[in-house]
Amino acid sequence: MTFTAQILTLYPEMFPGPLGTSLAGRAREEGKWALNTVNPRDFTTDKHRSVDDTPAGGGAGMVLRADVMATAVDFASGKQPNAPILAMTPRGKPLTQARIRDISSGPGVTIICGRFEGFDERLFEGRNIEQVSIGDYVLSGGEMGALVLLDACIRLFPGVMGATASGDDESFEHGILEYPQYTRPQIWEGRIIPEVLRSGDHAKIAAWRKQRAEEDTRLRRPDLWERRRDASDQSPSGAQGKDKDKE
Ligand code: SAM
Repeated sequence: MTFTAQILTLYPEMFPGPLGTSLAGRAREEGKWALNTVNPRDFTTDKHRSVDDTPAGGGAGMVLRADVMATAVDFASGKQPNAPILAMTPRGKPLTQARIRDISSGPGVTIICGRFEGFDERLFEGRNIEQVSIGDYVLSGGEMGALVLLDACIRLFPGVMGATASGDDESFEHGILEYPQYTRPQIWEGRIIPEVLRSGDHAKIAAWRKQRAEEDTRLRRPDLWERRRDASDQSPSGAQGKDKDKE
């Protein structure tokens, strides 16, 4: 079955956008994924085709109406009842590689892109929608977030990346960052590729990479490092995991 992405957006012309080129574009041509856009404006009932209205309680901007958005969501989810429905919002749960892997192994996804001040909260009370964020910053619309989410999913489809193993080693797959990478030339501006990577000793290379991945995660992403420690503390072999981290 082809993974199908349905995007609810007021700007359907933004799709496939960058997903029409490179790996994702080729994968789409090969039928590894399909894309449909649904414009909530097509589900309006008034003569002005309004999808938004002023915020209850006052304040700046406009809010996407629950009734119009829900009709569009119902239409889209009717086409793919088994696909999760996600809404892009900075108030959502941050997306993780684990959630991306989950979604990419399913039948598809329906993504609701917000605009203006966002959604009427009752949309989330009335429908089974997962609210997700792509980071602690504010975009002008959910479309970029949808593209980010889809790009992360598509590269995981079988046969999309060159080597089958090339996704397994990467940042976040094991809860930490990837080790640093180097390539030719061997010396650049007086900087030389670490000796161990030139040694041909695979065991030493693996040990160096593990150590750098852990060290960089500890320094750059203490949040990830803590989470990993907490997870290993809670696992049956927690004590062992903790000792190992201290080495
Ligand atoms: N008033 C909202 C708030 O402060 O939480 C921000 C609305 S933003 C200007 C418009 C739309 O962009 C949102 O409804 C959402 O779809 C999208 N958006 C903005 N930042 C996002 C983020 N970090 N992650 C996912 N979507 C985001």
